[in-house]
Amino acid sequence: MKKISIAIDGPASSGKSTVAKILAKDYGYIYIDTGSMYRALTYMALKEKIDVNNEEDLDDLLKRISIALKQGKSGQQIFVDKKEVTEEIRIPDVTNNVSNVSAHKKVRTTMVKLQKNYGKHGGVVMDGRDIGTVVLPNAQVKIFLVASVFERAQRRFKENQMKGILTDFNTLKDEIQRRDFLDSTRKISPLVQAEDAILLDTTGLNIAEVVDEIKKLVSEKSKIS
Ligand code: C5P
Repeated sequence: MKKISIAIDGPASSGKSTVAKILAKDYGYIYIDTGSMYRALTYMALKEKIDVNNEEDLDDLLKRISIALKQGKSGQQIFVDKKEVTEEIRIPDVTNNVSNVSAHKKVRTTMVKLQKNYGKHGGVVMDGRDIGTVVLPNAQVKIFLVASVFERAQRRFKENQMKGILTDFNTLKDEIQRRDFLDSTRKISPLVQAEDAILLDTTGLNIAEVVDEIKKLVSEKSKIS
């Protein structure tokens, strides 16, 4: 089967990365979690006490550091200047500041260049907010994954519970809604469904059902292209 590019976009906690990881593994494709790159920059900005609203300082920081993704045995790992930050970029402080960082034009220009480079040979599953619209506009399969905010907060709540992290359900729900609002109302590359993307509402579906739906689309596209 010809190697294609699969773009998966959607709001926070809609299951993009879980589904993308399974697809990449099953097809032997590279998985690129673009959100982790914005998170890595945010983590470094917080560490260096750089204002997340200062575009110039963030751009300088991004040009000074190197962000690298590697496929480890237990999933994708992310490194900043060769130091692994895979766990650190998931802390609430990063989650609550990343949408401010990712809204800046200069930050997005550099990130998109890196991401396009990762995707240039095809055989990639990339997830994010602007993959189908900006990063891989020619992707053969584009999916826009959505789910009700209640269900997304519930999924995140259960995930945290399993990791032994105690969180307040309503706080989680508010944080998800706030991030969705910022990501979909920013001026540069807001979160929108690409015209040629397929909308998949995963509310009430389990992961296997979502993966199956996407695989049907992939096999149709692979026959045509
Ligand atoms: O996917 P994840 O929730 O880890 O993404 C973190 C944040 O990174 C998003 O809320 C968004 O602000 C930003 N992001 C983006 N464009 C992408 C991927 C993520 O702006 N392609």
